[in-house]
Amino acid sequence: MAHKTAVKPGSPVRLRDHDPDECGGLAKRDPEVTKKLKADLETLCELQERLYAENCQALLIILQGLDAAGKDGTISHVMRGLNPQGCAVTSFKEPSTEELAHDFLWRVHQHTPPRGHLAVFNRSHYEDVLVVRVHKLVPKSVWKKRYDQINEFEQMLHESGTRVIKLFLHISKEEQKRRLEERLEDPTKQWKISASDIPERRRWDDYVEAYEETLTRCSTEYAPWHVIPANRKWYRNLQVADIMVTTLREMAPQWPKPSVDVSKIKVE
Ligand code: AMP
Ligand code: MG
Repeated sequence: MAHKTAVKPGSPVRLRDHDPDECGGLAKRDPEVTKKLKADLETLCELQERLYAENCQALLIILQGLDAAGKDGTISHVMRGLNPQGCAVTSFKEPSTEELAHDFLWRVHQHTPPRGHLAVFNRSHYEDVLVVRVHKLVPKSVWKKRYDQINEFEQMLHESGTRVIKLFLHISKEEQKRRLEERLEDPTKQWKISASDIPERRRWDDYVEAYEETLTRCSTEYAPWHVIPANRKWYRNLQVADIMVTTLREMAPQWPKPSVDVSKIKVE
């Protein structure tokens, strides 16, 4: 069953129709909020353990969002209880010379999860239809074809046993301003500021347009996009954990049968 935040395949997305302040009628301090997150994080651990033991399917979570949308925060809050042995995070920065010498999917394909694993992409191949489009890093004739290329790539992953879920962390322009200002003031956050943050912010509308086309064209049955209201960090975490639990439950990893007849084995 499609999750409530999932973008229906083929339906046009307009971000102004999605409220980044949405919090499901809940409040940060509601005891049920803390309880639900705790329960989901525990379930997540248990399901990851089964996924690893089953060694049959994989899960890829793609995180996208504008600067300061909370990609790093989501990773640290939602993934913190996972067993590092079956989990990997890859952050995609500006491509290297070597990466640029290949097709745009080359660098991401190497980091898709093997069977039994869960992988998180902090940015992804979607940058190749986002920043690349906004900054005209390749001609339109090149990036236009990438929507179909991405869909086919993700379909291939799906058919090979990898579930793909894509999360767009949706913040408002005002919230981004608040977060960037906070980074400027807080010595423990200043390292996160990059020279591009302010010029990128001026291109907000171009990014919105690029995201809307991406979410519209690349939300599929086999690899849905979710628009996550992300102005409130606690609600964002709650949503992401809930989507991950729902997806893993659907995948229903099973404890494998023992390879030996355990009734015949005695530990001496
Ligand atoms: P951050 O996520 O803040 O560490 O920043 C990473 C930077 O790398 C962002 O400014 C992205 O736009 C940039 N980036 C990621 N992928 C690509 C790409 N394929 N082409 C150009 N820039 C990219
Ligand atoms: Mg940044």
